[in-house]
Amino acid sequence: MAAHIVTLPGDGIGPEIMAPTLELLNAVGEFDFEEHVFGGASIDAHGTALTEEVLDACRRADAVLLGAVGGPKWDTTDPHAPRPEAGLLGLRKGLGLYANLRPVKPLPALYGASPLRRERIEGTDLLVVRELTGGIYFGEKTRTASSASDVCSYTTAEIERIARTAFKAARSRVSSVDKANVLETSRLWREVVSELHAREFPHIQLEHVLVDNAAMQLIGSPRHFEVILTENMFGDILSDEAAMLTGSIGLLPSASLGGDGPAGSGGAGVFEPVHGSAPDIAGQGVANPLAMFLSAAMLLRHGLGLESEATAVESAVEGALEAGLRTPDLGGDAGTAQATQAVLENLD
Ligand code: NAD
Repeated sequence: MAAHIVTLPGDGIGPEIMAPTLELLNAVGEFDFEEHVFGGASIDAHGTALTEEVLDACRRADAVLLGAVGGPKWDTTDPHAPRPEAGLLGLRKGLGLYANLRPVKPLPALYGASPLRRERIEGTDLLVVRELTGGIYFGEKTRTASSASDVCSYTTAEIERIARTAFKAARSRVSSVDKANVLETSRLWREVVSELHAREFPHIQLEHVLVDNAAMQLIGSPRHFEVILTENMFGDILSDEAAMLTGSIGLLPSASLGGDGPAGSGGAGVFEPVHGSAPDIAGQGVANPLAMFLSAAMLLRHGLGLESEATAVESAVEGALEAGLRTPDLGGDAGTAQATQAVLENLD
């Protein structure tokens, strides 16, 4: 039976990069797609960014492919207004997706597109493993006319399961990033990661890095890192910083995986580009679809176990870039359709 993929194009450039991605997936295999509105589009249709019906559909799916959400239309400072991003948080929580994997590997063909010198980024091949369902984004929020607060909390179990994901993904080294000189949650984080390391992964090297130092080292010596393990907000910021090593945020894929999440959370992973809905270029046909294509490759690999299809997609993207494909964000003038064509032509 064909794998069942729920697609959530979302807003802005989301639908523009989703359509060619389905074309690409159809070229490498047979899939059964089920599309739903999500984010701002769902607020317009249903008054909420994620309906129960869509969450249920995602729970039943083998994998979920997501474009991007948000845009000025739904930007508001009214704390009671529905927000597109609430859909992302609801999906992560509802599917128990506690692990966000973001590989960062600048491609030789694009060394010139990076703002950093070639010798600095050459050979960089790192993975950011970000905790996705805890921390300050999910803590209690308060608001009065003159003050506001966001609570950051973590449990031992939450830290241990994400740390295990990071150690399993590592060949030789994990850099655990925290702010243990200031934050109590970071001190617990450091203790739990160290204990797990000693107990289950003594063969992997572990270092603890303060987040401000990690931000500097990511630019100064990105090759130093193999697996960066960190909490929700630090991971959000560091992975966007790491994105710039590749030259464009339009190239970074991500996978959000659960597994042993809350009971009944279901097993489907969510695969999406790291970038947002890029409202500034939406509707112009110039969005770079490559991060979305690479997200589809992660879906094939991590979501469906289709390793050779995943590699075929990644090789086609690399081949197209080597052959000179450049979208505007990479300093060229290829539109979304041309980029898609170039990748399809490089598919074995
Ligand atoms: P963004 O990633 O949408 O855009 C940042 C810059 O990168 C823009 O100049 C944009 O044109 C460019 N860019 C992004 N993706 C691109 C692509 N595929 N091809 C070419 N250029 C690309 O971030 P933002 O501007 O901070 O946010 C815009 C909206 O997206 C906001 O509403 C934000 O909340 C939302 N957002 C959503 C997600 C998500 O859905 N996962 C992530 C981040 C931001």
